[in-house]
Amino acid sequence: MSQATEESTPAMNTQASARIGKSKWLFRLYLPAVFKGLFNTFLHLVKAKGHKTFTIQYPEVARPVRKGYRGEHRLKKDALGREKCVACFMCQTVCPSNCIRIVAEEAPWPDRDKRPKIFEIDMLRCIYCGMCEEACPCDAIELTEKFNVVSTTRTEKIYNKEKLLSN
Ligand code: SF4
Ligand code: SF4
Repeated sequence: MSQATEESTPAMNTQASARIGKSKWLFRLYLPAVFKGLFNTFLHLVKAKGHKTFTIQYPEVARPVRKGYRGEHRLKKDALGREKCVACFMCQTVCPSNCIRIVAEEAPWPDRDKRPKIFEIDMLRCIYCGMCEEACPCDAIELTEKFNVVSTTRTEKIYNKEKLLSN
């Protein structure tokens, strides 16, 4: 037994050193790729130094929305502070989501017949298509740039006339 062990030891040593030699060779083969990768990373770092970064520290820094962005709605007021809306139901009729509810009442002013008693928009159903703004003949409703108004209940997202006028 001990003789066999003595005989196998040099052979095993040869195999082991061959394996080590092979792994060293593989190690040497990968080194250029590793250094190339590191060099590329370094190049990107140098290039990025003089360029504008695209990371925004939101919400401390707000990203400006693009022109024409359609966010939450606002009911506009006229020069006398009255709602411009004359309760013509055009926006409610055209709305593809059926999320506008208007109840009209007689206007107390001589220059129009009606005004909205109730004007509600279910913001959770709205798809922000802007059709209500397009259809309004009095320029009384518009979509603002507001997009980050959070709510904790569904009912909070049904905006009434007062909320829409103050938006
Ligand atoms: S933006 Fe479109 S979906 Fe939303 S209330 Fe206006 S018409 Fe309806
Ligand atoms: S279309 Fe304009 S004026 Fe007519 S109900 Fe809607 S917001 Fe009011």
